[in-house]
Amino acid sequence: MRKKIVAGNWKMNNDLAETELFLVELKKQVFPENVIVMIAPPFTSLNQAFKSLHEHPVTVVAQNMHQSKEGAFTGEISAKMLKSVGVETVIVGHSERRAFFNEDSAVLAEKVNTALENEMTVIFCIGEEIYDRKNGNHFELIKKQLMEGLFHVSDKSWENLVIAYEPVWAIGTGETATPEQAQEMHKFIRKTIAENYSKNIAINVSILYGGSVKPDNATEIFGQADVDGGLIGGAALKVESFMNIVNSF
Ligand code: 13P
Repeated sequence: MRKKIVAGNWKMNNDLAETELFLVELKKQVFPENVIVMIAPPFTSLNQAFKSLHEHPVTVVAQNMHQSKEGAFTGEISAKMLKSVGVETVIVGHSERRAFFNEDSAVLAEKVNTALENEMTVIFCIGEEIYDRKNGNHFELIKKQLMEGLFHVSDKSWENLVIAYEPVWAIGTGETATPEQAQEMHKFIRKTIAENYSKNIAINVSILYGGSVKPDNATEIFGQADVDGGLIGGAALKVESFMNIVNSF
């Protein structure tokens, strides 16, 4: 049975004091047993979040990581550094990294390799721009992102991979994909994995939807057969709305 996951991606929000306030509230919550809950604070809050949550069923995730082991990469963070503060899961390939920091599939493939070599779990993000969808290119584009960034990994690696489908036109816009659009793409992603790996791998990988998920649309989106949870941006910044989404299955 594949895992249900709700992950909050804080992006560049919450300093240390704001993180601490969030954590105090979060720790008062009752977490459902059938959902893995994750938060991805900025680097400066990871250490605090991990220490604070170690007795709670919440996984602390990094939003990004450099592909190299170490060296002259000013401003970057390595897998070893993340692991040294307890972080074992990393988001790779978020559309904001692709668009604003020019991370292409070749770089993302290296990041995936580095994370897997360090026994980390990867949440690999894919998603089309609005013009791809308008041109009817969205399936082809998603397949290309998978082939170029991810499909070099071994069969065994899939135990440590989660996919997040985040259509770029739905991120932070309030315009979510319809449940049918999400299901159609998630089904396609699973089929593509089955064709390139195996049916068994495809049915066991969790595929999350991201893009304007809110408490009032989460139940319908999570109710789709191939949607295994969500990667949440804006609505994950408040404990109340985040927990409403966590409890939407
Ligand atoms: P929003 O939920 O704010 O649209 O962001 C989605 C996202 O990019 C999560 O990674």
